[in-house]
Amino acid sequence: MAVARQFQGPIDLHAHSSVSDGTETPAELVRAASAAGLGTISLTDHDSTAGWAEASTAARDEHLTLIPGMEFSTRVQYASVHLLAYLFDPADSALLAEMTRVRAARLSRAEQMVARIGMDYDLSWDDVLAQTTPDATVGRPHIADALVARGHALNRSAAFADILHWKAGYFQPHYAPDPLRAIELVRAAGGVPVIAHPATRGIGDVVSESRLTTMAEAGLFGLELGHRENKPEPTARLYELAAKLGLLVTGSSDYHGTGKPNRLGENTTAPEVLERIIAEGRGSAPVYG
Ligand code: AMP
Ligand code: FE
Ligand code: FE
Ligand code: ZN
Repeated sequence: MAVARQFQGPIDLHAHSSVSDGTETPAELVRAASAAGLGTISLTDHDSTAGWAEASTAARDEHLTLIPGMEFSTRVQYASVHLLAYLFDPADSALLAEMTRVRAARLSRAEQMVARIGMDYDLSWDDVLAQTTPDATVGRPHIADALVARGHALNRSAAFADILHWKAGYFQPHYAPDPLRAIELVRAAGGVPVIAHPATRGIGDVVSESRLTTMAEAGLFGLELGHRENKPEPTARLYELAAKLGLLVTGSSDYHGTGKPNRLGENTTAPEVLERIIAEGRGSAPVYG
């Protein structure tokens, strides 16, 4: 007998709070999701689960379903690959060690980038700290906000197109594990891994058929093909590969508050797919608010 679904739709499985580079607190994000008419939201801050508790409380208040998640930074040479992870154990020691290492690398990398930018622009590390919450996962968006506050850019997007663009010469990569290892870590922690925005520019090689086959064998659950930054041609190719390899397809907004134009619920995930994620997630439980 089929178990009745406990979650509500529409379902948006990718959103950021001020625990990383979103502009709203976890509770504000959950309230915004409710106001946008969503029934289920996943909080997927970069490399951190620090917002889960606050988001859970807000989800109960708002009668919204919360899927605890994270967007885990991984890397193949110079290509940054984001791995969404759902319903994993936030206390798993191997995963936690890698998250801690990535967050430390992000911090020193941001400090180094700001030191270099500071040679050409009036910008200090304190300017960046003023744009982050305590213990937030620091990223280029915070540097962008500091550049905006100093009047060097009009908004985040403009800062990314100009001073933070790799062509400007200030960009630096940071340590992150290989996606294959990240998939194994997430599965070992009881989580469900999905490659975020896999058809964006720059990660074409990473999602080749041979690499995807290896990742599927290692436990990759799916591909986030519903995302505004995916390009049409590689997206069409990945739909075919997903069908061939048995990977499921998700869609989500990647909402960052006022930090990005992405709107909550602009892409959504099918209930059947969320049902599978919940069935496979063993490290933590959804909050049925
Ligand atoms: P980082 O991980 O520090 O290299 O920064 C990458 C993050 O910057 C991504 O997670 C995005 O949220 C954000 N980002 C990338 N491009 C843009 C853009 N054009 N406008 C605003 N945010 C962006
Ligand atoms: Fe982000
Ligand atoms: Fe991402
Ligand atoms: Zn994201």
